[in-house]
Amino acid sequence: MALQKRRRGPARTAQQRSAWSKKSGENHMMVQPCSNCGAPRIAHRVCMSCGQYRGETIIAKKTAEE
Ligand SMILES: [Zn+2]
Repeated sequence: MALQKRRRGPARTAQQRSAWSKKSGENHMMVQPCSNCGAPRIAHRVCMSCGQYRGETIIAKKTAEE
């Protein structure tokens, strides 16, 4: 049985590489408003504005401690 020489040509490989590089960039991170303070926050990450995630305070603010 004959074997195919290649699955894709160089042009299609380059197109896919371009899509991969876009996916690995910062644009793929979903930015959503925080449910607590409404500041823009990366989805599934602790809010850097109020330090809360899913209603729990993860990062205590330094001003409250001192
Ligand atoms: Zn917040």
